Amino acid sequence: MAIERGIFFDDSESISPQQREELQDLKLAETVDYAYNHSRSARNLLDFINLKPSAAFNRKNLEQLPITRKTDLIELQKSIPPFGGLLATPLENIERIFISPGPVYEYQPSGVQWFARSFYAAGFRKGDIVVNTFTYHMSPAGLLFHEGLRQCGATVVVMGTGNTDALIQAMLDLKVNGFLGTPTFLMSVIKRAEEMGHTFKETFALKKTWFTGEMLPASLRKTFEETYHLSTSQAYAVTEPGGAIAYECEAKCGMHLDNDYIVEIVDPQTGKQVQPGEVGEIVVTPLQNKSWGLLRFGTGDMSSLMTEPCSCGRTSNRISGIAGRTGDAVKVRGMFIVAKQAAQVMSGFENVSKFQVVVSRNDDRDQMDLRIELKSEPADRVSLAEEIGEKIQKICRLKPDNVQYVDSGTFPPAHKAIEDTRKWE
Ligand SMILES: [Zn+2]
Repeated sequence: MAIERGIFFDDSESISPQQREELQDLKLAETVDYAYNHSRSARNLLDFINLKPSAAFNRKNLEQLPITRKTDLIELQKSIPPFGGLLATPLENIERIFISPGPVYEYQPSGVQWFARSFYAAGFRKGDIVVNTFTYHMSPAGLLFHEGLRQCGATVVVMGTGNTDALIQAMLDLKVNGFLGTPTFLMSVIKRAEEMGHTFKETFALKKTWFTGEMLPASLRKTFEETYHLSTSQAYAVTEPGGAIAYECEAKCGMHLDNDYIVEIVDPQTGKQVQPGEVGEIVVTPLQNKSWGLLRFGTGDMSSLMTEPCSCGRTSNRISGIAGRTGDAVKVRGMFIVAKQAAQVMSGFENVSKFQVVVSRNDDRDQMDLRIELKSEPADRVSLAEEIGEKIQKICRLKPDNVQYVDSGTFPPAHKAIEDTRKWE
């Protein structure tokens, strides 16, 4: 069965980039004005930096605002209970309240579209029967995904987390053709079904999958697609301002940014926006959801902006996958390098068993050296070192000064992937 994916959920996905920027800036100015006038904490924030809302407010002006992170939200809600002074609408407009660890009380107003574009891009349509394995308990995931699927016309099996055997039975009985969950969970479902004696590819009707909550490794994606003939898609979702901030299309090359958010990629230390291609923290300002006076929510996740056009016809910018968390990032010559991203690059070289990036400082310049343990001897050590250096530069945007081979056993089992030896005095 061919999966219909080459159509958009709405026209906003294919407007010109310039038109999108103008529309978003207009909405941003309105959002900031609304937040200032309806949310005590947004007003405090803007007054604190002496910035007044105006019709000319645009995304560059956001840089002046401090970033609010999850830890700040917990503190805010403690000092101004229960919603931290962020509730910007009468309570009667709030349909549901969710409780995230912290605790952080999150809420959802009526009539918002938070996930439909991402499900539509993944191919979910009328007539599909989709099992939702995210929890419906306390957390926003279950209900919000449920609604997004309905907005695409799909029928949802209310599964939630828990009993794998009951899930397998339901998938068989109802001829479920769509799955929402984490990639690891789907793999465990397939394994369990095989243990029970089923031939997954032949007995199950499953064709379409959508993942969030953890990134989909390339090797697992290949297994799903080639061994089990599943179409795969993933999205990057956050719960605080609520929604699929970015989602994959059929090109599966980065995730398109949703029009309803201003997404900045910033230096987490300074809050300044970085250039496309450079790694920084994902910072989100929701434009559609006026019930939260939340401006510049810092997700703590690192990614980079892709501005090249996409073959699918969607005209929005994309972000590359999640490179890691801000706490794991080290700044070298003005750019961030993240352990997970370097590990991703190195996993593509089969001769390499372990590696370490060593950052030092020489003559007022940051030096980045890459140390490598080999598991097998390459045909040519010099060309392998060159190839690794080029790949690191391409993906991490930083060229190692040296790629050195070290003796096998140099690194202990749990060594740091990035060792920062610089001393700042
Ligand atoms: Zn695309």
